[in-house]
Amino acid sequence: MATHEIPPTPKNYTIWYAYAVGSNLDLNRVLDTLVDEEEAFTESRSDEIFSQFFGRLEEVEAIEKTGQRIEVALGELTKLVGVADDGTTKYGETLENFAGKLAKESPLEDLRSLVDSVMQETREMHTHNKLFASQLKQSSREIITLKKSLDMVRQESLTDALTGIANRKAFDMHLRNAVRDAMESGDPLSLFMVDIDFFKKFNDKYGHQVGDEVLHLVGRVLERSVRESDTAARFGGEEFVAILPGTTHKDAMGLAERLRSTIATRKLHSRQSGEDYGTITMSIGVSLYKPGEPIRQLIKRADTALYAAKEQGRNKVVSAEE
Ligand code: GH3
Ligand code: MG
Ligand code: MG
Repeated sequence: MATHEIPPTPKNYTIWYAYAVGSNLDLNRVLDTLVDEEEAFTESRSDEIFSQFFGRLEEVEAIEKTGQRIEVALGELTKLVGVADDGTTKYGETLENFAGKLAKESPLEDLRSLVDSVMQETREMHTHNKLFASQLKQSSREIITLKKSLDMVRQESLTDALTGIANRKAFDMHLRNAVRDAMESGDPLSLFMVDIDFFKKFNDKYGHQVGDEVLHLVGRVLERSVRESDTAARFGGEEFVAILPGTTHKDAMGLAERLRSTIATRKLHSRQSGEDYGTITMSIGVSLYKPGEPIRQLIKRADTALYAAKEQGRNKVVSAEE
């Protein structure tokens, strides 16, 4: 930071600390590019990078917390409605019985009219409480609606808009969980990283929009290729990742190979005009979690294997474990 004369603000520290430990390869790429191109690290640039790489995480956490609070409130409100309703019903029944007995056994008119007036009051209270209960029910219905829309926002914040599969944030979250589970269970955990070959050329030839459609297709094929308990995510740009808990390295290699071949043999064409877009290929790097290794190292090893696949001529699956 001193070299590039970056002011030591909390945001800048967060950004450059993450850079130094290499916890986010995309962030490092962005910062390396800035430095290479000698662009000034201004306050607005810092804000932009911070919200891109760190802001979303805070947002997701805030949404999670709000959701939990609403759930607690909803639970309490529902209980309250039940108690209020039960209480008045029981109170009414007791008095009703009491009045019945008095009518039979007491000849005293005065006493009877006294009881009648108590009954009247009770009925009013019952009506009042019923109104209260229905108002409470109404607000609990509102909370349920609120919670549903919150769930939708939460889902949206974890979904990649272009492909509809998990986004980078969801990937980070799922990988943290998968690593924790693998440490606890001792089960294998595999990961692979996918990068489309010469995608820039494809875009240049057919246009960015066609490129986007291809990304959508690759996302869908990837998601269909993995199991329910796996995570298929868009890592960024034309790069995808899959987290495969409980999958051996051998099986992960097999899966990656099938995916590579499915995409490579698929003829692409326009849905509207039928125009032929030829085919695309992908390179894939596969790594297996070594218990205790830092998460970024697991990703880095898959990335290195992916790079090796590119070096070896692309349209290949390379293992990080050999
Ligand atoms: P390589 O085989 O080495 O991976 O070559 P490449 O051209 O795929 O790699 P490079 O990293 O040079 O370029 C990646 C290209 O991916 C750049 C950009 O045109 C394209 N790309 C990244 N994100 C998107 C996107 O969201 N939509 C589209 N259409 N293209 C994208
Ligand atoms: Mg790439
Ligand atoms: Mg590429």
